[in-house]
Amino acid sequence: MRKQFAIIGLGRFGSSICKELYHMGHEVFAIDTDEKKVEAVRGLATQTFVGNGTDENLLEQIGIRNFDHVIIAIGDDIQASILTTLHIKDHNVPNVWVKAQNDYHHKVLEKIGADRIFHPEKEMGSRIAAYLTSDTVLDY
Ligand code: ATP
Repeated sequence: MRKQFAIIGLGRFGSSICKELYHMGHEVFAIDTDEKKVEAVRGLATQTFVGNGTDENLLEQIGIRNFDHVIIAIGDDIQASILTTLHIKDHNVPNVWVKAQNDYHHKVLEKIGADRIFHPEKEMGSRIAAYLTSDTVLDY
């Protein structure tokens, strides 16, 4: 079934999720403050916007409340990540998934109702360590 996703923050993590979902046939809105990041996903998302995730007018304009899923992949600007999450939860989006920068960021995101919190580098590191030590790899 075709779902509606919005991705806010188009660094390596956000842009790769954006491209994958779009290739899978989903509707994907992609947003970043940096015009170059937005340009890089043009044609690889349903609609693109240069804008700030903390901007309530922009969120209203794109109809954020109608999305099934919003992924917030803002990195270093923890304040912007938290504020964006708050605004989007205020619009009752059922699935708000957020990239956390550190454990303090994680705790705040949990408190304000983020539905899933990622630590991509940490999670990938654990996965690779598990894979490297699995029987499958030893047998290979
Ligand atoms: P990655 O590892 O995914 O490349 P990163 O952890 O290095 O990301 P940043 O590069 O700091 O994180 O941020 C990711 C993206 O979020 C950047 O493209 C940045 O322009 C964008 N971004 C930062 N603040 C905002 C904001 N308030 N609204 C929308 N996008 C933002």
